[in-house]
Amino acid sequence: MIKQDQLLWIDGREVAALDGETLEVENPATTQTAFVVARGQGPDIDSAVDAARRAHDHGPWPRMHPRERGRILRAAAEILRSRKESIGEVETACVGRPLREMVQQVGRAPDWLDFFASVAETHEDLVVPASGELMNYVRRVPLGVVGAITPWNHPLLITMKKVAPALAAGNTTVVKPSEVAPVAPLELARALVEAGIPDGVINVVPGFGTDAGKALTEHDRIDRIDLTGGTETGRQVAAAAGRSLIPVQAELGGKAPVLIFDDVPIDVAVAGATFASFVASGQSCIAGTRLLVHERSIDAFVEKLVERTQLIRVGDPMQPEAQMGPVVSQRQLDRILRLVESARAEGARVLCGGERLAGHAFERGYFIAPTVITDVHRDMRIMREEVFGPVVSVQPFADEDEAVALANDADFGLGAAVWTQDLTRAHVVAHRIRSGTVWINDHHRIDPASPWGGFKDSGIGSENGVEAFNDYTAAQSVLVNLSRTPFDWFGSSEELRYS
Ligand code: NAD
Repeated sequence: MIKQDQLLWIDGREVAALDGETLEVENPATTQTAFVVARGQGPDIDSAVDAARRAHDHGPWPRMHPRERGRILRAAAEILRSRKESIGEVETACVGRPLREMVQQVGRAPDWLDFFASVAETHEDLVVPASGELMNYVRRVPLGVVGAITPWNHPLLITMKKVAPALAAGNTTVVKPSEVAPVAPLELARALVEAGIPDGVINVVPGFGTDAGKALTEHDRIDRIDLTGGTETGRQVAAAAGRSLIPVQAELGGKAPVLIFDDVPIDVAVAGATFASFVASGQSCIAGTRLLVHERSIDAFVEKLVERTQLIRVGDPMQPEAQMGPVVSQRQLDRILRLVESARAEGARVLCGGERLAGHAFERGYFIAPTVITDVHRDMRIMREEVFGPVVSVQPFADEDEAVALANDADFGLGAAVWTQDLTRAHVVAHRIRSGTVWINDHHRIDPASPWGGFKDSGIGSENGVEAFNDYTAAQSVLVNLSRTPFDWFGSSEELRYS
């Protein structure tokens, strides 16, 4: 059983906020308080950064053999796996996504600890061919203290994508999880501490972006900031970090296109499209929100899509039969419905959904009927802005060129999908899309080995894979003089050898 009252994790211990403040986490399916969590602010961030700084500058973690670090990370992975049911329940209570999906996601998240443990254990430093009688080796050293700011939509998984490589590379961390869903990240800290991670290496301080998040971003004793969140937050965080010359990695918003060619059987295309669009009530940065369908098959596709969308079982996310839960908050619900209204006002047709669900089962939560919209054009707000809800638009295209042009007609470039049975077209079209990830005949797949990052306004840098591990290190070049000839730069008339 996970406690309803949660504290901060600082320096290997659970502590209350310095001023005793708390915040309430609302269950979006019931609107009741699910957890009361200590609310960190500037002074709590200071004490977490102090702990992380001490652990980095004087503690054993950065100096530990990578196999020993790996052993602790793998032990934490096992602890989390053994708790996937209870942490899955926490996630569902905080974000409203169906329990069966959250248990699966929580069960997958520890793979990041295993993968980055392996990367650290097998990492080899370089010897580079410097000229002269020199041996030049290049070590990869930890950056120091990494500040991580995470969103509410995949609370444990996204925290893990940052913490696992940062720790494996020998850094220490301060995590500021979303105020909306901070409990699973706190459970990650607990698992790492139980696995034997030294004090101060992992610190988790829930709080609001405007105080705790800002304090972390503007802190002068951190060495890097990692954010996953909205694009506007990304601009603010990058600007603040830029002032102190702290490198920023940012995973931001998306507006993923799904290109469906007319050689795909309608049933397959519709199953793919509903998976892309409506998983997690569409509250995913890579949700397939723009369905681009070949004009020859669009009518049959739309008819089947509406039929299938209306069959999605929306309901209490704790129940195994629920396929879709509520959206996360009243604020999100209002924003989504406002965007649907704006589309209507601008001439779009809402074929199904587009409203809050009413009736007994939906009395209290933030439930929206999954929504399909047609007759859209590029200038509508619904086509430009991230909706972050169960709303999808459908647009026709005449040929490959038009499909690519429509797909690229967005400020974002995070995820995209191409559905076709034509092997050549699948690859050629994928290569023409300006987006960090492209799925062919699939969507949403992610792996710790697979780079993940956004083009355009979707972010800076990328997560996952060996490259991400290297990004949590700095290259230190060590040059060794191998010459047996003594030299005196100022004392002899010998030809200068080191010019
Ligand atoms: P958000 O931007 O509101 O908040 C994200 C985090 O930033 C939270 O912890 C918040 O407290 C903090 N924050 C907000 N303002 C801040 C500031 N000025 N300084 C420092 N911290 C601040 O985003 P959200 O609503 O939690 O999450 C949804 C957004 O995240 C969507 O835009 C979605 O596309 C994006 N997202 C992107 C990815 C990706 O991999 N690219 C993955 C998941 C979510």
